[in-house]
Amino acid sequence: MSDMSALLKRWEPVIGLEVHAQLSTTTKMFCGCRNAYGDQPNSHTCPTCLGLPGALPVANEQAVLFALKLGLAVGSEITQFSRFARKNYFYPDLTKGYQISQYDEPLCSGGSVTIRWEGRSQEIPLTRIHIEEDAGKSIHDEKGDGTRVDFNRCGVPLVEIVSEPVIRSPQEAKAYLTRLKQILEYLNICDCNMEEGNLRCDANISIRPRRETKFGVKTEMKNINSFRGVERGLMSEIFRQAEVLDGGGEVEQVTLLWNEVEQKAEVMRSKEEAHDYRYFPDPDLVPLSVSESDLEEVRSFLVELPHEREERFVTDYSLKEDDAVILASETPLSAYFEATIEAGAPASTAAKWILGEVLSIVKEEGVSMESFPASPKSLVGLLQSVIEGEVTVVTGKEVLREMVSSGLSASEIIEKEGLAQVSDASALSETVAKVLEENPDELKRYRNGKKALFGFFMGEVMKASGGKSDPKVTQKLLTEALNGID
Ligand code: ADP
Ligand code: ZN
Ligand code: MG
Repeated sequence: MSDMSALLKRWEPVIGLEVHAQLSTTTKMFCGCRNAYGDQPNSHTCPTCLGLPGALPVANEQAVLFALKLGLAVGSEITQFSRFARKNYFYPDLTKGYQISQYDEPLCSGGSVTIRWEGRSQEIPLTRIHIEEDAGKSIHDEKGDGTRVDFNRCGVPLVEIVSEPVIRSPQEAKAYLTRLKQILEYLNICDCNMEEGNLRCDANISIRPRRETKFGVKTEMKNINSFRGVERGLMSEIFRQAEVLDGGGEVEQVTLLWNEVEQKAEVMRSKEEAHDYRYFPDPDLVPLSVSESDLEEVRSFLVELPHEREERFVTDYSLKEDDAVILASETPLSAYFEATIEAGAPASTAAKWILGEVLSIVKEEGVSMESFPASPKSLVGLLQSVIEGEVTVVTGKEVLREMVSSGLSASEIIEKEGLAQVSDASALSETVAKVLEENPDELKRYRNGKKALFGFFMGEVMKASGGKSDPKVTQKLLTEALNGID
């Protein structure tokens, strides 16, 4: 796609996302069945979520509170009496012939998501957020032995978050989705595991000539469930639409299906086959009524938002913006960072060690931040030893790894393995003298003017002391010895 940048000089992408997030409630949206992923297929079903005739749905209060939490967090207007509607279509994984959703009276209207884009903060306005139920899952037999349906997911509560068509590039769409995921995680209302499908995205995309104000015909790409997919899917669709228009053709209003495995979009249906869902208010459900006291209660559960935490980390701890962004990306990581400061570490040291060593151990060991084996308090114990010069930075990093694997404290490990840094001048002088003696050629060259060899000698002394020599003292002793008497 080398001519992508040339193409983007002429065509401006217009993107709006519809994101579906499964709410992590205890039970399903309209029945008492468990909302659980990964269990024995069809072990969480009842007449209501199986769509048997005559079964009556009752709205799940926890799901409504979760949706309100999101609505208030992004500044939406909350509808006092919103309504559930039937969206009628046939599909084997939705046996009652319609999905309960919200249509012209959604729970939340407006609001916005603050993203970080090109180093600045930017608002992405939302059209609406509504509640609906998920469908079951069709499992196509690999041997071609037919299709089975698992209804455990049927009736699981979803929020659909619809953005205005203000996004202008696939990268910006990815930044928006990243932020939305963070908000849902901060609010603790969705597991946001894209692989398990509890956060999914439909992307609407059109292009128009630069400087044109009218929108072009859009296509909709369904079923994107990875960040890579959003970026790649949109990129390929921009490319395809530009080729059509450049060739004098017209973009057809189609629905595409993103194939995550093949990283490619397939046409699912054209406009002619577009559904008429014949929405109408669900007569089995009373309007959702939200009182002022409900809103008060939900407000009391609201937390700091990701962009607010990023800003606070920059102002309160003088962090670099990029570092603040990483440390604020997940609550467990933020909490670990702030607990380390609270336990007495300087913010810059805490940030440096957590972004460096701690995160690489997390990655290598595949542990989560919540269960990181070295507590913030024990990390501070180590950092103090480093700051006070008891151990070198290099040794400190090794000690941390050992703290993680053994569960011992920094001081226990330093003591047990005799890792304390050698800054005692007499012991170090001996090492320095020995190193000079063992490298007569280098010593001669150094004294003949090849001063760059200083680093070589530093390295040799470090090596000889097993990384335990205090760099400052070593430097002083070495300078004296190298420049001293013949
Ligand atoms: P539909 O009637 O097809 O459902 P909507 O107007 O409800 O379309 O919008 C659905 C999504 O498509 C929204 O996220 C919206 O921002 C986006 N959208 C609307 N028009 C366009 C367009 N011309 N190009 C790209 N995205 C668009
Ligand atoms: Zn049920
Ligand atoms: Mg729509």
